[in-house]
Amino acid sequence: MDTTAATPSDAKRHTPITRRLVVAVGGLFVLGVLVAVVALFNIAQKLDTEDVRKTHFYIERALDNRITASKNYIASYAYWTTAYDHLNGEVDVQWAYAEQNMGKTLFTNDDFEGVFVIDRERTKYAVVRGQHVQAEATAYMDTPLADLMDQLQAQADLTTPAIRYTLFEGWPAAVTASVILPNDERPRVAPEGTSVLLFVDQLTPVKLRKLGKSYGLTELTLVKDTALGPGQAAVPLDSTGYSLVSRLERPGQQLLWSLLPPLGGALLILALLTAYFFRYAMRTARQVDASYDSLEKSKQALEASEERFRAVVEAASDWIWEIDSQQHITYLSGRFNTVTGFSDQQWLGQDIEQLLYCDTTPIALWLGKLVEDQNASNLRCSYRDHSGQLRFCRVSARPIYDKAVVTGYRGTASDITDEVAAHAQVQHLSLHDALTGLPNRNKLARHLDDALVAKEHAAPLALLMVDLDNFKPINDSLGHPAGDAVLLEVAQRLRDSTREQDLVARLGGDEFVVVLSGVEHSAEIDRFCARLIDSLQQPIHYETHSLHIGASIGIAVSRRQGYVPSELIRCADIALYQAKSEGKKTWCYFVSHMNDQIQHRRQLESDLRQAVKNNEFILHFQPRYKVDGSEIVAVEALVRWQHPTQGLLGPDAFIPLAEQTDLIVPLSRWVLREACQTALTWPGALMVSVNLSPAQFERSDVVEDVRQVLIETHFPASRLELEITENVMLNDVNGALQVMNALKELGVRLNMDDFGTGYSSLGYLRTYPFDGIKIDKRFIASMSNSSNDRAVVQAIINLGKAMGLTVTAEGVETLAQLGSLGSDECHEVQGYFLSRPIDKQAFANLLLSGQSLPRTGS
Ligand code: C2E
Ligand code: CA
Ligand code: CA
Repeated sequence: MDTTAATPSDAKRHTPITRRLVVAVGGLFVLGVLVAVVALFNIAQKLDTEDVRKTHFYIERALDNRITASKNYIASYAYWTTAYDHLNGEVDVQWAYAEQNMGKTLFTNDDFEGVFVIDRERTKYAVVRGQHVQAEATAYMDTPLADLMDQLQAQADLTTPAIRYTLFEGWPAAVTASVILPNDERPRVAPEGTSVLLFVDQLTPVKLRKLGKSYGLTELTLVKDTALGPGQAAVPLDSTGYSLVSRLERPGQQLLWSLLPPLGGALLILALLTAYFFRYAMRTARQVDASYDSLEKSKQALEASEERFRAVVEAASDWIWEIDSQQHITYLSGRFNTVTGFSDQQWLGQDIEQLLYCDTTPIALWLGKLVEDQNASNLRCSYRDHSGQLRFCRVSARPIYDKAVVTGYRGTASDITDEVAAHAQVQHLSLHDALTGLPNRNKLARHLDDALVAKEHAAPLALLMVDLDNFKPINDSLGHPAGDAVLLEVAQRLRDSTREQDLVARLGGDEFVVVLSGVEHSAEIDRFCARLIDSLQQPIHYETHSLHIGASIGIAVSRRQGYVPSELIRCADIALYQAKSEGKKTWCYFVSHMNDQIQHRRQLESDLRQAVKNNEFILHFQPRYKVDGSEIVAVEALVRWQHPTQGLLGPDAFIPLAEQTDLIVPLSRWVLREACQTALTWPGALMVSVNLSPAQFERSDVVEDVRQVLIETHFPASRLELEITENVMLNDVNGALQVMNALKELGVRLNMDDFGTGYSSLGYLRTYPFDGIKIDKRFIASMSNSSNDRAVVQAIINLGKAMGLTVTAEGVETLAQLGSLGSDECHEVQGYFLSRPIDKQAFANLLLSGQSLPRTGS
């Protein structure tokens, strides 16, 4: 708004736009009314003017006719030889009055108030109101008669009468004058010598009323010129000072009078209404103006938000559609083309269900529901776009009404393809294993829930828990890419071995589950397991390696182990444990006594915990001799558990369990400390050997543990030997190397235990800081069976020696074995043949009895 020309008060408050509008509308209305009224008055005035003109015309006509009548009448008297003979010269009163040739009848019948015969000198004959009088005509009227005579006598045609208006006895009258002439053939009379006949027709009210009547003039009267009102239809009567008037009809005024009261009433009502409207409009206008102010303020914000909205709409992938009651598409917005790639022409007129598909409900049904429930939710539909790609959209709709009848629907379709894809991906990730793409534990749980929900009525199923043998070593020695390749190949083989209706899931690590649907008989399951194990046994080629793995399977069957998914998994797991313990590459069905074993295991675990607290362990000691048996070079500490009810238990009964729990850590520390403390009691500086568990390496800081014990017991590190199996290195190649180097730095000896049973040997030997190796007792046991096995032992001895390691043969049970080892130049020997593991006291006794080769042990 421009305020530059505004007064200060205006400037303070502009007339707001809405109020101006209201005022303008009101003004226009008033103007309209005014124009109408003016037009009405104008018409009325025109009518009245016309009325005046007409009245004037008719008055003139009436007067003219009267005059013409008078002229004709007087002519009949004046242009008459008899009258000339009796009136010209001396008037024959006898003839004129007495004989009534020009007597009273002119008054009584013809209404002439005066009849005069005059000449230039005098009035020769006078009849006033029918009475013959001796009087001058001028006594009755003020018309200059000489002029009249001059006019008459000067005419070419003397017979033509003349007319004068005059006051006769004070009242206007028309005086008709004519020269008295003979109408026979006598010679022409000299005009100067003629007399003049005057007929005076006084314009009395009675005569005028009569005259007016015959011309449709009401109240034709005479009015003094001085009393004339404006706009009157007045015909002036020369110098009489009077005019002829007639009452005007005044049709305009009549019109006004007839129209104005109802018009006025109507206007009044209208005015009231207008006032009301005005007040209301002004109030509304004020409100609107008030909001206009804030509107003005928020306009910028609005514009900004509109801008944003437009941007959103542009960016949005919504398109708008309309269909008729037959579901035929009648409209598609511009974005339809952008989003779908189709032109709208391709789809207009087609059934919308040809375009969109909803897998949960027919679209028609959903649309129908919208009529009842305006708040019905949106519908997720799918369609194939122009390039044939499956897309998804969220469809909203509103019925279109025409007089309460639904004539169609209109709505939007928001493209949610990305959303659906993202959702599907999240869904997939949450239900699948990222590496192999196999279903994971969650999906397995869902699958089992669905498959077992009908309980006894459900189709039977077999749940196979599959665990890979030898997987960890591959993963650790060749790295995770190799492990991943193996898992991928295994996943593929599992898939290939199963049918469509079966499920293969990976639970993590090298654990898989196969759910066989509709299967319950052992023969069938056995066939499957055999096939599966055979398939998994086939070497897996990874880079240059040919990797060999196997599998163990534990089986639970729904018809026997029930319909609780978690219970089925637990049972298969127990069976797997059994299968593994029975020797790998086999399968085991769950049987209830396995539950007892599990129960037993649980009991053992709690007992073991108790044992660690109660110090229920003891050490037995088994000496190691020089191969010639001349002296004890070291002694191995072997742990035993004095079980409160089960008696003395060997390490195989509880070490694996301890390794599976964190109990291995305190147990190992106890062994280490006990071994060192005991060794301190021995005479001399006999070396003590302590076994380390691979689990220890994972669960505690072995180096720190050893250091602590050495410090606490003040046992010389040089007298401590640690026996470590290859498994330690298999689990974490680099980590194990670091730990072993650190152990070596403590000053202890390292012996590789159970050499030959592990995965690979030679590489480790070179890399790791071992001082010696212990050939596993299985090689020693088999040595006497075949020359081939002996050759293996020989080769190991030679290898160890070549690497500068002390080679020990363990499990020496016979003299023959001892002999062979001796001739093969093995360094040291250990075994029942030399000494069984014996308790502390027995070993102390042994030492006291001398270090010679005993024939018997504990
Ligand atoms: P290992 O380290 O190989 O120990 C030698 C095992 O062979 C001992 O069994 C021993 O009694 C047995 N043995 C010795 N000579 C002969 C023989 O001539 N013939 C036969 N058949 N066996 C013989 P043990 O004491 O039952 O120990 C079994 C395993 O338990 C040990 O195998 C070792 O790996 C583990 N172990 C024993 N004590 C401990 C310990 O304190 N800590 C850890 N981590 N493991 C231990
Ligand atoms: Ca050992
Ligand atoms: Ca061993």
